[in-house]
This record gives sequence, C-alpha cells and structure tokens, in this order.
Amino acid sequence: MERNETNGFSLPRVEDYEQFIGSETVERILGKAEKLRDLHVININSTYYGGGVAELLSSLTLLMNGTGIRTGWRVLQGRPDFFNITKRMHNALQSDEINFSDLKRDIYEDVVFENAARMHLDHDIVIVHDPQPLPLIRHFRKKSPWVWRCHVDLTRPDPALWEYLREFVEDYDAVVLSLPEYAQNITTPQRFIMPAINPFSTTNKDLSEEEIDERLSHYGIPTDQPLVVQISRFDKWKDPQGVIDAFRIARQEVDATLVLVGNVATDDPEGQGIFEDVCQCAEERIVVLSVQDSALVNALQRRAAVVLQKSLREGFGLTVAEAMWKGAVVIGGNVGGIKKQIEHDVNGILVNSVEETAQQIIRVLQDRELRESLGRAARETVRDRFLMTRLMEDWLDLIASFEP
Ligand code: UDP
Repeated sequence: MERNETNGFSLPRVEDYEQFIGSETVERILGKAEKLRDLHVININSTYYGGGVAELLSSLTLLMNGTGIRTGWRVLQGRPDFFNITKRMHNALQSDEINFSDLKRDIYEDVVFENAARMHLDHDIVIVHDPQPLPLIRHFRKKSPWVWRCHVDLTRPDPALWEYLREFVEDYDAVVLSLPEYAQNITTPQRFIMPAINPFSTTNKDLSEEEIDERLSHYGIPTDQPLVVQISRFDKWKDPQGVIDAFRIARQEVDATLVLVGNVATDDPEGQGIFEDVCQCAEERIVVLSVQDSALVNALQRRAAVVLQKSLREGFGLTVAEAMWKGAVVIGGNVGGIKKQIEHDVNGILVNSVEETAQQIIRVLQDRELRESLGRAARETVRDRFLMTRLMEDWLDLIASFEP
C-alpha cells in the first residue's frame, strides 16, 4: 500500500496533532520516526474490539503506518474455553486466586502453539500484548527484539501463576508496563509507558449537540435529569454493583439518571454473566446497556454531569482519559492507572468507597463551578500527557534503543 493515501482514504498523520502539541513536538516525533522508517513491526493481542488494548492498537498502528513504519496487528485465535482460562489468569494477575491445573496449562500452551504455527513472524520488532499470547516466543527462532507489553495491574499477582509465566517473560528482550508500581523481580529490562487516546477517533472526536441528542435518543436514554455515567466492559474489577449502590445513596439527595454502558470483548467470557447480574438492578432511573457503539460512548462522556470509573483494579483506564478530554469531571477509584491520571480535586476526584462515591456525586452535581474548573483542568491534563503522539514517541524511543 502506498503511504498515507489510497483511493481517497488517508492514514492519520502526526501533523494532525499540531493544534494540540505544537509544531516543535511534531517535528521532533517525525524526526525520530524517520530514523526508523521501513522497519516492520508486529503487534499481537487477543481481541479486535472491547477493551483498552484493542482501542490503543487500532489508533497507534495507523499512526505508525502514517509515518512509514510498517506496523501490523494480529489477533490470537482461540475458542471460549481458551479465553475462559486466560481470563482467570488475567484475574489472578490482578490478585484473584486460581487453580491453574495441568489441563488448563495444556490448553493454554497448545492454543498458543497452534497460533504460532500459523503466524510466520519475521518482523524487525515483535510486540506481544498481555498474557494470552505470551508463550508465542517459545516457538520462534528469535532474530529480532521481542517485547512483552503487559497492560494489567501487576501490584499483587498470584505468586504461583507469576512463577510459571516468568519463564516465558524472561525470554523477552524487554517488558513494558503501564506504571513503575507494576515492576516485577525479573531479569528482563522493564520500561514504563502509559497509554493514551486518539482525539480524532469516533470515541473522542468533537460531536455537535444534535449528534449527541441523536445517539442518546436512539437508545431511549432520558435527558430530563443530569446523567451519571460509567462506561466499562462488564467486569467485576470495574465494580458496577458499587456504582449502583453509590448512585442509590446519592439519589436520596439529588435528581439524576445513572447510565451504565458496557461491551463484552471476545476474549472475556465472564462479561455476559456480569451484564445479566447488573441488568437485575435496572429501574426507571438506572439504565443498563450492553452495546459496542463508540459514538454512544463519546456522546455520553460529553453529556454526562459526572463520569464514574469506580474500578477496584485498573491497569490504566482509558475511559478516564477519554472523559477528561471532553472536560468531564471523573470520579475515579483511587487505584492503579486512575490515580496517575486524576489529581484529587485538581482535575477530577478520587474515591475509596461506595459512601465516598455517593458523597462526591452529590457534591459535583450541586456545584456547577466545581464541574467547570475540574473539567477544564482535566482536558489540559490529557492534552499535555495522554495523547497518542506521546505514546508513539515513547514506543519510537524504545524501538530506537534496540537499533545497533
Ligand atoms: N469501551 C467501548 N464501549 C463500551 C465500554 C468500553 O467502546 O461499552 C471502550 C472505552 O471507550 C475504552 C476501552 O473500551 O476505549 C476500555 O479501555 P479501558 O482501559 O478503560 O479498560 P479495559 O476494558 O481495557 O479494562
């Protein structure tokens, strides 16, 4: 494919970000990209949509291709029994217990081997995301650097599971984690790169009031009272029950409608059951929707009076940066990547319990000035630290460090 333009379609360009990051930064990034031009990079993860990794890869791979670095993206193929096991592993890496039997280990390793046999990797850099495809490295004669990019909160991994995974991890040339707090005792060099958002994507681009109204009315979301919103995969770490409990307490003092929107990723077989549990709580002022509609995510983050991200664990939490970019006040769980994005009472609010969440919902809904000042600071934080160009520059620096 010709670079940048084909049949009227064009790839995103670093220059498009000049309005947000300035021309000097654009030039610096393009200079770094030029030195790596024509490299062939491959990313491998385990779902094409649903969840932050897919969201990141869909934007980052195109922006990299726009600079001439040939960057691909492959998705691991697996049946639900495989993803049941890898979801348990994901949960155990975030501190759950796991019974990782020999049978489960065999299914995990066999499916990854079958994928390896079909992959034919001979790229200049191989980037493997999260635990699902981690053992791929065992099946290739390594001629170039391999990077394991782990997106989960690794503060308290199950020790036995980590011991097992460590064997694979230490075959890699580098490990990239979102925060220094997730660092492990391993021989592989560890780097820390926080994710970022694409301001031009369907999830984040500007929308008119009419477009917002259209999306909300399409789903019958009432707008007669302020909206309290949480947008997240249906996952226990996102604490949807805690959100509902906090909202019910807050609603004794303020009028509002709660909207919980989520999707179910193909690599997350637990999602449907959690969605069904949350649906039991739906009532006149609590709307629960399971749908993959990025424009609805965008519309809700823009229209919300307050956005919640009441996670109990959160590797990073792209939904937080997305909402902050739109000038929303985010009330976020005081965990993982959320506390790196939100500075309490400066550009958002951090909470540690259902009760605190309820009190903060009431406070924000009752104070328009607070909403405006936190929202302004929130957008500035994202402009400064969490746009896709910063993420790309971090990756260019890492890739350049491998060059002879
Ligand atoms: N998302 C979405 N629809 C939904 C829920 C989430 O498009 O119903 C997107 C959301 O906008 C974000 C990503 O999925 O881009 C979730 O990333 P995050 O890092 O917040 O959480 P993860 O799912 O990776 O744990």
